[in-house]
Amino acid sequence: MRPASFDYAINYSRYYLNPLWYASLLKRRANIGLGKKFRSKTIYFVPTCDVELDPPWFSHSWESRTDLGLKEGLEQFLNIIQTADASCTFFVEGCITEKYVDYLDPLRNYDIGSHGYSHEAYSAHVVARTARPHKPTLQDRRKYLRLSVEAIRRFCGRSPLSFRAPMLHIDNDSLQLLEEEKIFIDSSISNHFEGKIHPYHPSATNPTKQGNREILEVPVTVNPRPKLLSLKAPYSLFSHPQRKIKHIANVVRIIDSLSAQNNVPTVICTISHVWEFSQTLKKRLGMVSFFGDVIQEITRNFDVTFLDLPSLSKMWNENITPVIQS
Ligand SMILES: [Zn+2]
Repeated sequence: MRPASFDYAINYSRYYLNPLWYASLLKRRANIGLGKKFRSKTIYFVPTCDVELDPPWFSHSWESRTDLGLKEGLEQFLNIIQTADASCTFFVEGCITEKYVDYLDPLRNYDIGSHGYSHEAYSAHVVARTARPHKPTLQDRRKYLRLSVEAIRRFCGRSPLSFRAPMLHIDNDSLQLLEEEKIFIDSSISNHFEGKIHPYHPSATNPTKQGNREILEVPVTVNPRPKLLSLKAPYSLFSHPQRKIKHIANVVRIIDSLSAQNNVPTVICTISHVWEFSQTLKKRLGMVSFFGDVIQEITRNFDVTFLDLPSLSKMWNENITPVIQS
């Protein structure tokens, strides 16, 4: 088996091999702090959680995954959401909706999006270790996406309005598939490499460029200040267990300032996974979620409006004139 770092380098080679990408990191570093300081009236906070079987840490096979996140973690995550009286979008893996229906029952009160059917890849860039199947054909992806939409409809009586691709990898063909299935909100770009700050409508040819697609891309929020000398992703994801952001309130102020410069609302979209909240995995792998701290610090320091993705999309599409972001 190849070392994980090798797969990582292949997955993200289109960044590592592109000199323009390094230039964009330097430009971002230079721009931060130049703009006006402005405090928004409200921060729009969109918590999201990927509801799925555990990644194959123990079996090293996508065919035999454990379910500690569903059995132990989901309830813990829901406690945090309910304590904060927050909205949330749950991205559910289609293959779990029947077997785990008792655990998933509380989600019927929330927005439910699709996380594919069985953690298959929605981009030709993803290699086998990080999602399956390896190099899925467009027909495969269409089949799995439809299975996922049908499973969610059977579970909650509604079709999903939003989508998150496994491993935060999506390509143009998959955005097209989403639109065919009448899914008009996506939250899948590799923002830990892109550093986007605002939601946007992607171009018809490139998911990371602004354009005229009907679908709204809502990037997972990152610290907008990239790390330049890191072998990992330069932008740290909010609340991710392996990429903790320090001084969350200060980072939100920078995002708020950059949003004010572009005259758009400040949007914070966090990602969590149910397995981050499993006590057993915490003991075995030291996996700890910081989501509880993140939500507390933001609500303590800012006037927060919680939204799920369909509500955010409605607000954005009705009120916001597109801005160009690098
Ligand atoms: Zn996932």
